[in-house]
Amino acid sequence: MKSFDNQLPVRLRFGPGRIAELAQALQAHGNRVLLVAGRWDGAKRKLHERCRELLDQSGLDLAVYDGARPNPTTAMVSAAAEIGKRHDCDLVLGVGGGSVMDVAKAAAVEMTHELGCFDYAYFQPQQPGSATLPIVLVTTTSGTGSHVSKCSVITHADTRIKTGIVSDHLYAREAIIDPELMLSVPPRITAATGFDVFTHAFESFINQNATPMADLCAREAIRLLSTFLPRAVSDGSDAEARAQMAWADTLAGMCIANVGTTLPHSMAQPISGHYPQVSHGEALAMVYPPILSLSWPGAVERFAEVTRLLNPELAALPDREAARSARTAVEELLGRIGLTSSFAELEPDAEALEALVVEAMSFPDTRVHPVVPSEKQVRDMFQEINGGGSS
Ligand code: NAD
Repeated sequence: MKSFDNQLPVRLRFGPGRIAELAQALQAHGNRVLLVAGRWDGAKRKLHERCRELLDQSGLDLAVYDGARPNPTTAMVSAAAEIGKRHDCDLVLGVGGGSVMDVAKAAAVEMTHELGCFDYAYFQPQQPGSATLPIVLVTTTSGTGSHVSKCSVITHADTRIKTGIVSDHLYAREAIIDPELMLSVPPRITAATGFDVFTHAFESFINQNATPMADLCAREAIRLLSTFLPRAVSDGSDAEARAQMAWADTLAGMCIANVGTTLPHSMAQPISGHYPQVSHGEALAMVYPPILSLSWPGAVERFAEVTRLLNPELAALPDREAARSARTAVEELLGRIGLTSSFAELEPDAEALEALVVEAMSFPDTRVHPVVPSEKQVRDMFQEINGGGSS
């Protein structure tokens, strides 16, 4: 058996109603809280009111930044950090989906470090240090796993390059995972964020660096989501489905924290960076089909196992046939959750396509995929989803 590391330094408070413990989760870690949030409108208003009530009762000093938006940028992080510095905050709280949580994490770095958060991205010589403020996260989507990961994904406001700050200092001290907070997520966002859960589990499972511990979490996450994601999409008020998806998200988040993602994230991340109207889950749904066709021969048994988890009716198929069917099984999942999204509708010109290829090739995730693709293969896949043939 291979040797491996596993880390989960985050205290989890998991279960319906656990948001009531928000003050306790914060009080152990600081006194002056920077609350990072998104837009508190529509279905999220009740969630906002509940959090504000709990924070008002907590006796903690509070400063608020509520400008975090999907595919967050360095400008949002700087605006949040500025407010936090002005109020001398010693603790950062993120309440929202992955975009909000990632702004909270990056602001915890920027508030206490000399440079902007992007200067601490994984490829930079300088990295976040222990001065990073303590972070508490409340996730409201299922999800990105950001509440248990050591990563913050931010887009540079000028270059539109979307990348990660990755550091043990970005682990939250505590995370509240209360499935009741997710009841208000609309079907399309439930589908996109839920597909992200699948990708985290799948990509860590087929990853060249897969570990026995992450395998366990990945199998369970995929088993759960194959039943409960379609249920959560078709009936957002299904409390059992929301709870099981919140758990699948948390398991898959532990996978990415300890193993990581592969080629689909390398190709999807630049799409959402340059086309911020495309959510992370939608971008992943665009790139998955051709990547599955390319990749199954690189990890036949693992692709076969995932195919059977998604479609138990294929249990009797020999490994190679089941592995080859991975694309169909994932396309069926996407069909069941209604997550169709068209890359071609973005109408990228040749220069834009080439930028996506170059960025996708630069990510280390590409090199841990079971079939490490050539630049031409990545270009061909972008061209395929753009409606064209191979170059
Ligand atoms: P999101 O945070 O962008 O939210 C999507 C939409 O859902 C927003 O409009 C938001 O306001 C709304 N929303 C959130 N919670 C809601 C609720 N309870 N009810 C109603 N609406 C709600 O979506 P996401 O998929 O959670 O996060 C995506 C971001 O996370 C991307 O930028 C992605 O790259 C990043 N990400 C980070 C990690 C990590 O480990 N740090 C991992 C994967 C993805």
